[in-house]
Amino acid sequence: MGCLFCDIVEKKKPAKILYEDNDAIAFEDINPQSPIHVLVVPKKHISTSLDIKEEDYSLIGKLFNIANIIAKQKGVAERGFRLVMNCNRESGQTVFHIHLHVLGGRLMHWPPG
Ligand code: 5GP
Ligand code: ZN
Repeated sequence: MGCLFCDIVEKKKPAKILYEDNDAIAFEDINPQSPIHVLVVPKKHISTSLDIKEEDYSLIGKLFNIANIIAKQKGVAERGFRLVMNCNRESGQTVFHIHLHVLGGRLMHWPPG
């Protein structure tokens, strides 16, 4: 079965891309949950955070650095923002290609819903 985020990585499906390098891509979420809602996605297909292997550790670190770049670009680094990676059904994961949600531009609540 195809993967939606692999399709975006391969430019088979359009997205509003904000950042791209050899290892990852960041684009606007189609259904934003806050004024800023960007997804940071590794180009390598990894289904869930449970599937992250030791060889992926530097790649995962890069996702956080890209999230920082996005937060600074969007002007919310100092105000604050939230990074989320859902894993499996009860978390609400719907796309089984890992991605870091960068959420910001409004006051976040805790605990999350
Ligand atoms: P998850 O629920 O797996 O943590 O997050 C998946 C995210 O992908 C959701 O926030 C959803 O709005 C977003 N999404 C689903 N389909 C598309 C799409 O075709 N394009 C973009 N840009 N985002 C999508
Ligand atoms: Zn994929």
